[in-house]
Amino acid sequence: MSSARRSSKLSSPTLPSFDKASALVAAYAAKLARRRPAAERVRLNQALGRVLAEPLRADTDQPLFPRSTRDGFACRVAEACSHRPLVVAGSTRAGQTPSGPLPCGAVWEIMTGAPVPTGADAVIMLEHVEDSDTRAGKSSSKSTRTIRLLPPRTIRKGENIVARAAQARKGEELLSVGASIAAAQIALAASCGITTLKVFLKPRVAILSTGDELVPIHATPGPSQIRNSSSAMLAAMVSAAGGNAWILPIARDTAKSLDAALARATSADLLLITGGVSAGKFDLVEPALIRAGARFHFTGVRIQPGKPLVFGEMPRRSTGLNQNGPRGDQNGAKRCFVFGLPGNPVSSAVTFLLFAAPIVAALAGRSARGTNGALGPLFALARLTKDVKTKTGLTRFLPAACTFAGPTPEVALVPWQGSGDLAAMARANCFLVVPEDADRLPAGSTVRILLS
Ligand code: AMP
Ligand code: MG
Repeated sequence: MSSARRSSKLSSPTLPSFDKASALVAAYAAKLARRRPAAERVRLNQALGRVLAEPLRADTDQPLFPRSTRDGFACRVAEACSHRPLVVAGSTRAGQTPSGPLPCGAVWEIMTGAPVPTGADAVIMLEHVEDSDTRAGKSSSKSTRTIRLLPPRTIRKGENIVARAAQARKGEELLSVGASIAAAQIALAASCGITTLKVFLKPRVAILSTGDELVPIHATPGPSQIRNSSSAMLAAMVSAAGGNAWILPIARDTAKSLDAALARATSADLLLITGGVSAGKFDLVEPALIRAGARFHFTGVRIQPGKPLVFGEMPRRSTGLNQNGPRGDQNGAKRCFVFGLPGNPVSSAVTFLLFAAPIVAALAGRSARGTNGALGPLFALARLTKDVKTKTGLTRFLPAACTFAGPTPEVALVPWQGSGDLAAMARANCFLVVPEDADRLPAGSTVRILLS
């Protein structure tokens, strides 16, 4: 494609809107999420960030016994609410079993986490009783110890007790296939005595940065060069989305260099190329993708930053290794998805979050999060603290800082020097979404933010 043609294409109002392009990507992600990637078994302490390939079930009722959630006294509600002194008939610590049922007219001293004796229907908190021992000092240990619930306090049935199986019944599914494993899921598995988990293999995501101006991060840039910061950034974003990042050497702005790099990169499940997709004379990525057999779903979106974004798929090169491909490679699919991300790092970050992350998550076997049933980016609402003036025609995603100190989240733009400004992006914690038809967002209005 000539750069003149590409240029006219990018200025065309026929480019898909943000909503249209994201719906298209979401449809691909949903289709991908229906297929099950190959799986492996990993130890629990290596399962962080992985995706469950078989359901996790409760090995016993949870809790296995009625459990006190407080230090205090197990009681019968009717007796406790009479406010009469009740004899302390026994004592149970966490890890002990009560020696018998709760006698009538008595209470049972109990510690947090200990089993509640049969007959008791609530636990009075230690802080809510008058204790004969405390009143009389330690010398009273010879006389019968009693406590009474201090009036006017009352207590309800079941208070401070978690009934047996209230959290889960034996055999019940606690986590489904597709659940992402974070600390809470690891704790849940540990509580069921599970030491290994069956998880999906991660998709292999190739990252190919292109550009004659780029040098590797360990090199000192010449007067007109810059370090390849985007590959490192995208590798981190790929990991967070559930993929295995594979950083390729920088490709130059020549057909030969791009063709050679693509020949390697298309063995991945997904390819992220940065740079070379705009309308300049040396933006050679799209023609190289076409030579490699790519079919495009869109070649530009009405957004800023990130307008030249390309999404497509191409024939996948076989690795020629074994049936399951190299370790960490899911294999199976005959196609390699490809995103051509605009070169400026903020543009790469925004377009990754909006469009590539859902595809990585779907390839990783993650099930939809939240209630909207989509693997898509996460948005939230916040109150804008300063006016934003802008132009209509593109949906904008501008680096912003959101604070959560007050009753509502508050957001303001971070000053920035355009989509190469990594320092501004590092000061931001979200992106303010400016709708396509807005030329101004007034201070005090409720706005959408894209969570990063
Ligand atoms: P391009 O989309 O290739 O026109 O790139 C736009 C600009 O983004 C370039 O002029 C560079 O300043 C910057 N850029 C491109 N690739 C990278 C990269 N991998 N890391 C950091 N900056 C980049
Ligand atoms: Mg370039």
